[in-house]
Amino acid sequence: MRTAYQYRLRPTKQQAIEIDRWLSMLCYQYNYLLADRFNWYEQNRSPVNACPLVCYLPELRDNPDYYSQKKTLPQLKKDRPWYSGIHSQVLQDVVKRVKVSFDRFLKRDSNGKRIGRPRFKPLSRYRTMTYPQIKQDCLQGNRINLPKLGKVKVILHRQIPDGFKIKTASITKKSERYYLTLSLEDKTVPSIKPDINPYSITGIDVGLKEFLTTAEGEAVAVPQHYRKAQKRLRVIQKGVSRRQKGGKRRLKAIKQLSRQHKKVADKRKDFHFKTANYLLSKYDVIAHEELNVKGLSRTRLAKSVLDAGWSSFLSILANKAENAGLLVVPVSAHNTSQECSSCGEKVPKKLHIRWHNCRSCGCSLDRDQNAAINIKNRAVGHPVLKAQLTSDGIPGVAEKPALYA
Ligand SMILES: [Zn+2]
Repeated sequence: MRTAYQYRLRPTKQQAIEIDRWLSMLCYQYNYLLADRFNWYEQNRSPVNACPLVCYLPELRDNPDYYSQKKTLPQLKKDRPWYSGIHSQVLQDVVKRVKVSFDRFLKRDSNGKRIGRPRFKPLSRYRTMTYPQIKQDCLQGNRINLPKLGKVKVILHRQIPDGFKIKTASITKKSERYYLTLSLEDKTVPSIKPDINPYSITGIDVGLKEFLTTAEGEAVAVPQHYRKAQKRLRVIQKGVSRRQKGGKRRLKAIKQLSRQHKKVADKRKDFHFKTANYLLSKYDVIAHEELNVKGLSRTRLAKSVLDAGWSSFLSILANKAENAGLLVVPVSAHNTSQECSSCGEKVPKKLHIRWHNCRSCGCSLDRDQNAAINIKNRAVGHPVLKAQLTSDGIPGVAEKPALYA
């Protein structure tokens, strides 16, 4: 299992200057290597039906790839000696980043659509550098030993869990602060705890009205601080646009704005963690619908959908469950809000109708709760749960017939 822990770094002034210097050099190198790749394509390819008869023939050379670009690094260090100050693997990691973003650009993504051209990054967007390998004993007390940077103070607010090995270390600069992200790996296969209770199950329906509703009808509201923050953001944004471009005061206002944005993001993350913890402390098994956020974000609801950040919530939930040996089951979202949860009859209703009234069985429920119960019922057919139920000696599900097993 792979996971990541993030810590606050407290570099000395000297170290902070050095990190900034590295980031700027790496940024230049990233842009240079990316341009190298674009240039090859522009000079060596033309559409089959539009090949000009008279054209400039460049000196032919091989398409730059990961390996050929990596080979240019020793020469770079000779031409620009200040690059040898950077740890070699950190520099090599830039080549990998170029490769990853360029490959993603060339390869159509799974939906058969191209994604945009990778952008050249201004310094303000190039904020992370990575040590792809690091010694296991790099953490000593409250310091981390980063090759060529030295021992940097780190606020170890939690220990690395037992059995995990440090794979990579990244330094990120976020609104004038430095963070260390350790990617950790535990080779043992994750397991669901043996005494998982298959009856302690719920379904959750996520929505725009409530952040989520459980099958028991409990609702978690969408936290209001997003909206409050929006007001404040607008004020600061105004401050930025009023200041003169290129001026010191504008720069200061931009910093303030980025701090405020980070605050909102932190609050959202905190809310996600707390909600996930709450659900997992109450239930052993949680079912949710598979989300098509991409589909939703193309509609008018886009802003609210992205703001609520369900997909990041669901990934936090899945992660937390895995750590605790509990189970999160995604199920198909098809018709969950239209079908009646007690008889299976289809009850078509538009989005604004908030109440589910079934004519054939008389079931009357909140719309979201009805959907949540449907989601729960769909998850009951999950193989792990079935195995657990038969090992208990109880065939099927006692509480409610599984409609979609
Ligand atoms: Zn019904």
